Amino acid sequence: MQRGLMLITTGAGKGKTTAAMGMALRAVGNGMNVLMLQFLKGSWHYGELDAAKAFTGVGDGDGGSGLGRFEIRQLGRGFVKVGNAETDPADVRMVREGWEEARREILSDKWEMVVLDEINYAISYGFITAVEVAETLKARPERLHVILTGRNASPVLVEMADTVTEMKEVKHAYQKGIQAALGIEY
Ligand code: ATP
Ligand code: MG
Repeated sequence: MQRGLMLITTGAGKGKTTAAMGMALRAVGNGMNVLMLQFLKGSWHYGELDAAKAFTGVGDGDGGSGLGRFEIRQLGRGFVKVGNAETDPADVRMVREGWEEARREILSDKWEMVVLDEINYAISYGFITAVEVAETLKARPERLHVILTGRNASPVLVEMADTVTEMKEVKHAYQKGIQAALGIEY
């Protein structure tokens, strides 16, 4: 059995969440059970939620279909008003509850891969500390791969990770006034 790896995708360029999703798909195809927990919820209808649901009952992780289980879960309502002086205490509470759920899943031994999407954001805004995340990840099952995404990854976690990729923005369609595109952004 291979030791689980810790990966981080960070930086200002596009592709952090979707890189994690690409690895998730790759793992599911290899019969691994994958959970993706999203700390930040956008207002769009994300196509990947339905795509992951299509795996329900197909990818059961029992080896029958050869596919693993693929579950994407959005935690709470996400936090949208951070950076603003009046961060809603309800948002803080929900991010905390989301983190408790993430902790339980990481330690549960039910998964071969757990993606913590946008957790870096929750850490950089002080909802969760890098130290508590590091402690939980150190205690994870040995085989578990974990992927953390989001801008401004904490140096503590970068130091601890096995693979860290920084997405560099060369250009983005948004700068030309092109709106978020179906299938590309959501
Ligand atoms: P993706 O989900 O496409 O992999 P990401 O996870 O790297 O992107 P986030 O910081 O989570 O990027 O931003 C979420 C949304 O913002 C995405 O829809 C993405 O296309 C868009 N986005 C990412 N980078 C930029 C950028 N440099 N300029 C404008 N929009 C961006
Ligand atoms: Mg993202």
